[in-house]
Amino acid sequence: MRCGLLGEKLGHSYSPQIHKELGAYEYAIFEKKPEELECFLRSDALSGLNVTIPYKRSVIPYLDELSPIAQRLGAVNTIVRRDGRLIGHNTDYFGFRSMVEQSGLSPAGKKVLVLGTGGASATVQAVLAEMGANVVVVSRSGENNYENLHQHVDAAMLVNATPVGMFPNVGPSPVCLDQFPRLEGVLDLIYNPARTRLLLDAEERDLVAMNGLWMLVAQAKESAEWFMNAPIPDEKIRQIYQKLKLQTENIILIGMPGSGKTTVAKELAQRLDHELVDADEKIAEAARMPIPEIFRKGGEVYFRQLEAKVLKELGKQSGQIIATGGGCVTDRVNRDQLRQNGTVFWLQRSLDKLPTTGRPLSQTGDLRQMYRVREPMYQLFSHHTIDNDGDLEAAVDQIMDILEGRT
Ligand code: NAP
Repeated sequence: MRCGLLGEKLGHSYSPQIHKELGAYEYAIFEKKPEELECFLRSDALSGLNVTIPYKRSVIPYLDELSPIAQRLGAVNTIVRRDGRLIGHNTDYFGFRSMVEQSGLSPAGKKVLVLGTGGASATVQAVLAEMGANVVVVSRSGENNYENLHQHVDAAMLVNATPVGMFPNVGPSPVCLDQFPRLEGVLDLIYNPARTRLLLDAEERDLVAMNGLWMLVAQAKESAEWFMNAPIPDEKIRQIYQKLKLQTENIILIGMPGSGKTTVAKELAQRLDHELVDADEKIAEAARMPIPEIFRKGGEVYFRQLEAKVLKELGKQSGQIIATGGGCVTDRVNRDQLRQNGTVFWLQRSLDKLPTTGRPLSQTGDLRQMYRVREPMYQLFSHHTIDNDGDLEAAVDQIMDILEGRT
């Protein structure tokens, strides 16, 4: 059985990885120009197709039949060939519904702001309306726009269905969350980076914050069911989601100098077969001198500047285990650089167990005083706290349990 993904410019897509987990069919990438569409769809070489930007609407004239949801949304993201007939489905609908359910948010009876008016927004609106939400669509050129959001201070949920904040244009957020005091959560359909500026802001306010990776996997699961004409248990969504999250996000270790970051990182890298990156080594490489010499020549200020540059670059990448320097939390800007694509673990070890040899700041300063200053920052930077007073295996097991969704 041959299936694949049809689009115009596909770049790096997660779909082949996801479909490999879903069924024993070939899954290829087909980048086609608009003028090639008809010929491609009429050839009978493929039994199933996913369709993405910009063809979700333009494939419809070539199809023999549409599912009721595809018909209602006027968009198709899955095509199957049955007895020579092409049937169009829309599995983004199931994907987004599954995302809302997974988030734990309940939109029924509440005001939900949906940003953007493209194809993804239409799906989101339909799902939310069916779930009983009071949906308000925000468009740059609509009646509800970014200039009159003060009319919606009672919004309980916000869904970003615009490309604002998506890689490589990371950084901007479509709205400032301060204006919505009753907000319970934010869903962003973007999944690269894992946390857009909007999601980082939501996390900082302790709101539910979820990216679009779950939706991507869930819609693929329903597509695979259509391809194979057989049901797949919903549990498969979670398994693939966890696996993909592990492959595409960074794992970042922070903590006091000597708290075991490098040792734990090495063990994690081995267990997960991921690249290990020691931020201090990268800083020394960038400065072309060892860390103590950087401190001697330029002082801590110079070191922190180099560190911020290195962490900015590392934070954009994915699939790495990053052991940071103990003081990286002293610069607030590093927080979002690290968290945008990673889960941050704070390794805690008792101060009397921390070694000081070869650590410039630990040797010259009072460790207790250093901890008092840094503790709130470790708290602010981290997603999870790990006790590293026991043995190495125990600390790594705690991290693996979190990463694999056991705790
Ligand atoms: P789209 O058609 O390109 O854009 C959606 C809407 O965003 C536009 O109609 C526009 O609405 C608004 N917009 C575009 N540029 C903007 C800007 N610079 N500032 C503010 N608003 C802007 O995209 P789409 O296909 O609907 O997808 C939207 C997002 O969802 C994309 O990031 C896509 O990757 C993601 N997505 C994810 C999944 C998933 O499975 N996770 C599935 C589908 C889509 P107005 O002109 O009305 O403001």
